[in-house]
Amino acid sequence: MRWPPPLPLLLLLLTAGPTAAVQKQVKIVGLFDSGSARQAAAFRYAVDRVNADPTVLPNVRLVASIQRIPLLDSFQASKRVCALMEQGVAAIFGPQTASTSAHVQSICDAMEMPHIETRWDYRLKRDDYSVNVHPHPASLSKAYESLIRYWNWKTFTVIYEDIDGLVRLQEVLKAPSSSEFKITLRQLPADSTDYRPLLKRIKKSGNTRIVLDCRLLVLRPILDQALEIGMMNQYFSYLITSLDVHSVDLEAFRHLGTNITALRLVDPAQAVASDLLQDWLQDPLPAHNGYVAMHLNILPFFQTETALMYDAVRVFAHALHAFNEKLTVRPLSCQAENSWAEGNSLVNFIKLVRTGGLTGTIEFDREGFRTEFTLDIVELLQDGLKKVGYWTLASGANYTRSYGEKIREIEHSLWNKTLKVIMALNEPYVMMVNESDPTLTGNARFEGFCVDLVNEIARLRNFSVEFDLVEGGSYGGIDPVTGKASGMVKALLEQKADLAITDLSITYEREQVLDFSMPWMTLGIGILYKKPTNEPPPLFSFLAPLSLEVWLYMATAYLGVSVLLFILARFSPYEWDNPHPCREDPDVLENQFSLLNSLWFTIGSLMQQGSDIAPKAISTRMVAGMWWFFTLIMISSYTANLAAFLTVERMVSPIESAEDLAKQTDIKYGALATGSTKNFFRDSKIASYQRMWSFMQSARPSVFVNSGAEGVERVKNERYAYLMESPQLEYVVERNCDLQQVGGLLDTKSYGIALPPGSPYTSTISTAILILQENGTLHLLKTRWWKEKGGGKCKKDTKAGTNSANELGLDHVGGVFVVLLCGMAAACMIAICEFVWKSRKLAHEDHVSLFGEMAREVRFALRCQSTSKPARRPAALPSEMLTGWSPPPPPAIA
Ligand code: GLU
Repeated sequence: MRWPPPLPLLLLLLTAGPTAAVQKQVKIVGLFDSGSARQAAAFRYAVDRVNADPTVLPNVRLVASIQRIPLLDSFQASKRVCALMEQGVAAIFGPQTASTSAHVQSICDAMEMPHIETRWDYRLKRDDYSVNVHPHPASLSKAYESLIRYWNWKTFTVIYEDIDGLVRLQEVLKAPSSSEFKITLRQLPADSTDYRPLLKRIKKSGNTRIVLDCRLLVLRPILDQALEIGMMNQYFSYLITSLDVHSVDLEAFRHLGTNITALRLVDPAQAVASDLLQDWLQDPLPAHNGYVAMHLNILPFFQTETALMYDAVRVFAHALHAFNEKLTVRPLSCQAENSWAEGNSLVNFIKLVRTGGLTGTIEFDREGFRTEFTLDIVELLQDGLKKVGYWTLASGANYTRSYGEKIREIEHSLWNKTLKVIMALNEPYVMMVNESDPTLTGNARFEGFCVDLVNEIARLRNFSVEFDLVEGGSYGGIDPVTGKASGMVKALLEQKADLAITDLSITYEREQVLDFSMPWMTLGIGILYKKPTNEPPPLFSFLAPLSLEVWLYMATAYLGVSVLLFILARFSPYEWDNPHPCREDPDVLENQFSLLNSLWFTIGSLMQQGSDIAPKAISTRMVAGMWWFFTLIMISSYTANLAAFLTVERMVSPIESAEDLAKQTDIKYGALATGSTKNFFRDSKIASYQRMWSFMQSARPSVFVNSGAEGVERVKNERYAYLMESPQLEYVVERNCDLQQVGGLLDTKSYGIALPPGSPYTSTISTAILILQENGTLHLLKTRWWKEKGGGKCKKDTKAGTNSANELGLDHVGGVFVVLLCGMAAACMIAICEFVWKSRKLAHEDHVSLFGEMAREVRFALRCQSTSKPARRPAALPSEMLTGWSPPPPPAIA
């Protein structure tokens, strides 16, 4: 220490008492350029606090030297630093401006003097002898980026004042993919305090998310002007990059619902800070007190820069303590270029400090930067700026306020508010009660499902509504070519309303630019078309129960069975009868199954009439039995199906599905001109829908309609199918009995309530919809507007579309044919057996060979000339024993 000590220190030594006399004095210098009065006061106060607290530096007394230097005068600053070093100092604090600080830093570096800064410095490398208590801009920038990511902002505007602002947001601006954030940069005019033109341009762009980087001085004027031009409502969100938003009066914006968020390093309400403040204001040293009174008021003290200066002194004190306070301060000369050996160690101790300060935990990296720190996330709520979370480099943005708390705040903010609701007319969602009644005004003019739904939500959430119709009546969207919004979408984007409701589908295109509530109804696209007219039954409808195939098979079976019966009867000896029963030995035998008789027998049984011919041989009986079985099944099936066919009136619709529509051009089809149904076909990748889209687009006159009602009228009066959404289709069919839905639904989607982008009310409206859905209100409303108010006109037509009684195919009756064929085969086998058996007997009796006898019988049978045959009698047996048989060899054969 230089001797004699400077005057203030001498005074302090004289007044400090006996203990202070043994303390070593260490001088530290604070360099403050004009405009840094608060930091100077904080510096002095921090030194006093350190000296007053024996636990911090028991053996050392710090002596503060406050040096004012002209702004941006590096020469003066360097001269002053050199002069001070000659007096012997332990550390230099400040100054605040970058250029002056750089000069001071290089002197400190040369002299190995610790240099402690508290200023914004975005360099990534620095000189060895310097540390900076200010949070490093790279880390700060990460904090803003993490907030923006947390909120999932994709499109936003950055308003900045100077290049430092862009540095503060470097992490956001250099996001990995440029498509991740769509950022519009707007610089505040340097030469004017009228920010309105710039703000208006932002408002016009539709961007409601704004990152505002400006000095505290202009923050309030900017916000005031934003308020003037309507940019301070619930749809706008601001992220203010200043760490000192708490020191600006935001009272005027508290109740507007604007989402204002900022980060802060210093919590002015923290216990240590307010204690310090109290203490400072009651400082017994009149000189200090006067200084405080002169330069400070309560809030600014807690601005980051002053708190940082306070913390900087504390950091130095802690380092000194860790250095065992065995410091020898030496006078140094800039000219002699001598350096202070202990300075190096002291700087290293400073870099190793880890302590809590007004600005949270302070620690440095190897470069002497403060890269790890904690920031509070603060939001402007109805009762002022409140901490809602915190940010750290390691964990990013963390909200301590629960989601439920946030929702409750929003619900609370809605109380007694009036939300403007725009609607588009469409039955039964939104209808005019009576257009010609002039006494109806305001909300009383409207009725419908959506009107009731919004009223229910408003009742649940305690807000009032003001209904109005959208200009032009269109639902709207974003034009894919021009990118321009239309209809209700446009109105919401321009914040002309808070909610939009009608049968408004939640689509990708709309969801891109608007917010949507939870769906309140699910639906799909259907086809509305006229009901088919009843067809007179065709002349030959009795043939309908059996398919043509079956009829052909039956006819073939009939002929086949008849011929087989004829043949078998000829073969079977038991079918040869004595035509004259009185003559015991007839000369001829007769066979009743001539070809005609066989045909007659089978047709008689097929017709369920029978005939006077009856088979006698087992083989022919087998044929008859099987044929009867066949006819039993066939006739019963026919009768059963005939009953269904004759009682059913068949309706023929020319189209059954969208594919049918796509295949033809005779029936025109179209959709609402400004709706999502049209867009569904426009954007579809399915070939038949693409074909439908080209047809609709090229049709003249246009097949697109301006309202649902117009579409329904066209269906009634023209050959026109209207592609519309299922709930309204259901509503129309309920009231127009000549119309019907054709085919199934072509897609699935939902209706929702649309809100301006970033609306805070989305989730509270969504939860209200869920409540209404779960307690059955939505169902009741649907029943009221679909069924009760004019519904149920059409009696359910049980005959409609009932061509469900199908023809019987071969599959159904094939088995009968199989049984018939098997029977016929069995009959043939039996006939052969009979034939062989009888021939063997006769051969034996006539002493002829079996084959000779069989050949004779076959020849006779094949002659087919007569159904009479001479009777034969076996020689060895008396004729009475051979009743009904044994003719002699027929003369014809002989
Ligand atoms: N719901 C449709 C929309 O939101 C309107 C009706 C339609 O396109 O069929 O655009």
